Amino acid sequence: MKEQIQNAMRRIPAMNTLLSQPWVAFYEAEIGRGTVKAVIADVLDEQRKKIIKNPDVAFDADSVAGTARAELEKKARSTLRRVVNATGVVIHTNLGRSLLAEEAVQAVLNTAAHYSTLEYSLESGTRGHRNDHVEWLVCRLTGAEAALVVNNNAAAVILSLMALAKDRETVISRGELVEIGGSFRIPDIMELSGTRMVGVGTTNRTHLKDYAAAITEDTSMLLKVHPSNYRITGFTSSVPRGELAALAREKGLVFMEDLGSGMLVDTSPVGLNDDPTVRECLEAGVDLVTFSGDKLLGGPQIGVIVGSGDLISRLRTFPLLRALRVDKMTLAGFEATLRLYLKGEEKKIPTIAMVFRGEDELKKQALRLADKLSAFLGDKKLRSVDIEVIRVSDTVGGGTFPQSELGGYAVSVRLPEIGGAGKLADRLRSVSSPVIAGASEDRLLLHVRTLSDEDEQIIIAAFKEMLGWND
Ligand SMILES: *Cc1c(COP(=O)(O)O)cnc(C)c1O
Repeated sequence: MKEQIQNAMRRIPAMNTLLSQPWVAFYEAEIGRGTVKAVIADVLDEQRKKIIKNPDVAFDADSVAGTARAELEKKARSTLRRVVNATGVVIHTNLGRSLLAEEAVQAVLNTAAHYSTLEYSLESGTRGHRNDHVEWLVCRLTGAEAALVVNNNAAAVILSLMALAKDRETVISRGELVEIGGSFRIPDIMELSGTRMVGVGTTNRTHLKDYAAAITEDTSMLLKVHPSNYRITGFTSSVPRGELAALAREKGLVFMEDLGSGMLVDTSPVGLNDDPTVRECLEAGVDLVTFSGDKLLGGPQIGVIVGSGDLISRLRTFPLLRALRVDKMTLAGFEATLRLYLKGEEKKIPTIAMVFRGEDELKKQALRLADKLSAFLGDKKLRSVDIEVIRVSDTVGGGTFPQSELGGYAVSVRLPEIGGAGKLADRLRSVSSPVIAGASEDRLLLHVRTLSDEDEQIIIAAFKEMLGWND
């Protein structure tokens, strides 16, 4: 046994042998010689462990070199990569939610590359406040008295609860004790913030009298939470904002709403009318509304708190705010996005544009992409290619309008010689410019709602690479 192990160990190539391979120079240039050595050392170590576990394990010098090269390849490539989103989910959290408008991209670049007035007043030559760049814009667009921005909506909710309801009671409907995803669970967030959660009503029905009965001397807040990607249907009832606002006013409580997506424009023209805009919530009497900047608003990742000037001033001086402050690039991108709304040019914001795309336009794009793919694949000697344009349901994503589907179009592709839809999707993810596609039964689906013209070229290139036609 021992001898067997020793023999196998001797067959492992030496570090120096691997370092003298012709392909090593490329990786040294990319990640440095020290890192190359460390990566190879790990591969050799792994091989030794395999031998100790099973002295008969099959390997040779070439297979070890191949593994080392594959590991170096992984390290040489950034893992945060551009992809094509052909899923038809506009606000896809795993794919980075909203794309910034061109104006916002330029603002980010400009702020990243140069010094700026981030916290500087040109008038007085003294310190300014980073929140000032966007506060007036947010107020203008939502009708709020005051606004404060933090890193994301989760931070907005935690900050508000800690500053306004810590060690006191917060009343919430049991139908809103939801998990949003990415480990944001309302009961946990409330506990973390130090407020005592008082759940009222039932999962499906909560009435105004339930809230009223739960209010004690210890109550500080009524909280309403958008259930995001979750809906209870059937025998349901919840209390309208106006009634909750009146109750809160009567009892001297804060009425806060975690709205989630935070729409600034009316989306009912495209059939999305279950959710109010931020302005509508404030008009209904909500004291504080929190929402994300990178969902339907279409900006960078940011959390916005809008509402009463008094409450916002209490948040402004709360020490936790320093840990949640927004980066300059984010602020620049957010300001530029808000300015597009101000100008009435919100259709330049990719998220808004994609949500509002009409079916005729989508169909035209799908037919064009199908033509390109057919022309390209038809040229080659594949026995069976099946490409057609079909109707599909797209979704807004980001926890918005979970029940409303947007009628869309996709190019359906079947290439049985390569494999089923799952196999095709896997292969399209593993090319140099990855494409994330949908699938339905045996069809690969390329939803066009989320595709730019440039993406169409990338998709053709991805098929080319996937099929090994890099001529
Ligand atoms: C998305 C969402 C959050 C989390 O917002 P982030 O900006 O991702 O932190 C919180 N609450 C609701 C209701 C949401 O929809």
